[in-house]
Amino acid sequence: MSSPNTPENDRTPFAAMGLSDAVMTALTDVGYETPSPIQEATIGPLLAGRDVLGQAQTGTGKTAAFALPILSTMRFGKDAGKEPRALVLAPTRELAIQVAEAFQRYASHMPGFHVLPIYGGQGYGPQLAALKRGVDVVVGTPGRVIDHLKRGTLKLDSLEWLVLDEADEMLRMGFIDDVEWVFENTPPERQVALFSATMPGAIRRIAKTHL
Ligand code: AMP
Repeated sequence: MSSPNTPENDRTPFAAMGLSDAVMTALTDVGYETPSPIQEATIGPLLAGRDVLGQAQTGTGKTAAFALPILSTMRFGKDAGKEPRALVLAPTRELAIQVAEAFQRYASHMPGFHVLPIYGGQGYGPQLAALKRGVDVVVGTPGRVIDHLKRGTLKLDSLEWLVLDEADEMLRMGFIDDVEWVFENTPPERQVALFSATMPGAIRRIAKTHL
């Protein structure tokens, strides 16, 4: 693996990373040619089944850094169950929507793939209907995710991936206990990717305990 300062043309190309054909085709559609440094650092380890702690600001390509390996290894469509296999926790409704849209773009060649953003302030009706139909990936704010878990309308028994996006923001917004609660209610063998712009003590502790 090269350092974050590796010049673009010395970076491992997407084609050599082991991403799925469907994801590679989507990358051609969106026009990404070279992985960003955070993508180069995390895609390989995530595909190899390791947990990852990534320090990255917004705008560095961190969404694709976790979405591409998740999509590459995911069963989807008829073969998959109705319960989500990936849960992404995000601090705000805006980020949840943005991440869900990115998943949709990168999954454009995966027929039957469904991603659902869930956040507070939105009616339960559409969220419940979508969860009942079945989703592959849920991207949600911690409060609303926990609401659904406690009501039994979101089940994490099939969960393979848990992602914390902008973990330091979730900490700042007082979601840390919610995040801990979600960790404790996911299958122990799930793979974890934790992204944060800064690494305060509380985030390091979470990483040490759960990764
Ligand atoms: P993010 O940090 O995930 O919000 O991504 C920031 C922006 O960079 C988004 O508009 C992405 O579509 C774009 N992006 C992510 N990865 C790449 C890449 N490897 N090449 C070109 N653009 C990218």
